[in-house]
Amino acid sequence: MPFDPKSLVALPVRGIAPYVPGKPIEELEREYGISGSIKLASNENPFGPGPLARAAIANAAAQIGFYPDGNGYALKRALAAKHGCALDCITLGNGSNDVLVMLAEAFLTQSTEAVYSQYAFAVYPIAVQATGATARVAKALSETDAMPLGHDLSAMAALVSERTRLVFVANPNNPTGTFVREGSLRDFISSLPKTTLIVVDEAYIEYADDPEFPDASGWLDEFSNLVVTRTFSKAYGLAGLRVGYALSHPVIADALNRVRQAFNVNTIALGAAEAALKDQEHVTRSVAANREALAYIRAGLDKLGLRYFPTQGNFLLVDCARPALPIYDAMLRSGVIVRPVGGYGLPNHLRITLGTPAQNQRMLAALEQALVLR
Ligand SMILES: *Cc1c(COP(=O)(O)O)cnc(C)c1O
Repeated sequence: MPFDPKSLVALPVRGIAPYVPGKPIEELEREYGISGSIKLASNENPFGPGPLARAAIANAAAQIGFYPDGNGYALKRALAAKHGCALDCITLGNGSNDVLVMLAEAFLTQSTEAVYSQYAFAVYPIAVQATGATARVAKALSETDAMPLGHDLSAMAALVSERTRLVFVANPNNPTGTFVREGSLRDFISSLPKTTLIVVDEAYIEYADDPEFPDASGWLDEFSNLVVTRTFSKAYGLAGLRVGYALSHPVIADALNRVRQAFNVNTIALGAAEAALKDQEHVTRSVAANREALAYIRAGLDKLGLRYFPTQGNFLLVDCARPALPIYDAMLRSGVIVRPVGGYGLPNHLRITLGTPAQNQRMLAALEQALVLR
C-alpha cells in the first residue's frame, strides 16, 4: 500500500469542508477568455475605500521595510475613541475572520461545544471544527417566517449546555441578510450562562437601518461574556487589506492576545483602517448608495418574478425557484459573478452583492438573460 499523507492530517481537520470564496474576476476572465467582468460575489463595497484611506495606504507603503506595530496602538486608540472603551478591550485581527479563529483557539477544546445557526456564516463551522470541539447547529426559522431562514434564538439557547463555550450570532447574517432584534438579542444574552461567550458578528452593521436593529457594542459593560466583532472589509471598503477587530472584556482580549500572531495586521492595513475611521463621510455615502441600489434591484427582481429575502446588509439572497448553478454559470458567461450558496444548503438561491448603479443594471440584464436560457 502506498503511503497516504492524508492519514497524518489531524482528524478534526480532515472533516472540514474548505471555504469556497467568490470567484475572482481574474480567474473568470482567464477561464472564459472575456474581459470587463464585474464581481458581486463577496459583499465588498463597490466603491472601495474612501480618499483618506487611499492616501494613508500610499503613506504607509513607505514604512513596509519595518515590522508593523504588533500592538496596533494608533488604530486601537482610534477604535477606543469610537466605541468609548479602553484599549485593552480591543483585539485586532487580519480581517474579523482571524478574530473568529482566535476565539475558537482560545476557548474551544475537544471536550467543549459551540452553537450557531443553520445558514450562518461559513467561517463558524471551519473555526470550530479545527479545534475538535463539537458544533451544535440550531435549525433556522422557516422560509415562511417573518424573518425567513433567520437565526432562531430559542432553538440556539436550547442547545447551550455547561459545555458550551461559544455561541455565534451573525447580525445581520450572511448569506441570508436576516437579523435579530434588539429586545430578543438582549434577552438571549441575559439568559445564557456566564460560562458561555456570545459572539455577535456585526460585519455589516453600518448598512443596517431597521429601528430595532441592535448595536451590541454598547452592551460590553453589562455582559462580561459578550464579544462583538467588526470589520473594515465591508462598508469601509478595505477587504483586500484584511483588518477587523473584537471588542470584549479585557480578560477575554488577553486570552485572544495569547493566540494572536505577533504581527497579524500589516502596516498598510493599520494605517488605512485608522484613516478610514476618520472618513465617516465615505461610509455615509456608501450606505446611501446601498439603499438606492437595494430599491433598484428589488424592483428589477419583482419584474422578473423572483423572490428575495429581507436584508440588513449590502447583499440580497434571491430564490431562483429552480437550481441556481446553471443561472450562475450563464451569468458568468455574461461577465457577472454572483455567489451560489448550495454549500449552505440553499441550492436554488443566489447571493448577490449590491453594486454601483451601472453594475446593478448589468447584473439584472445578465440575470434576466440567464433565466430565459433554460
Ligand atoms: C464578510 C464577513 C465577515 C468579515 O470577514 P473579514 O475577515 O473581516 O473580511 C465576518 N462575518 C460575516 C458574517 C461576513 O459576512
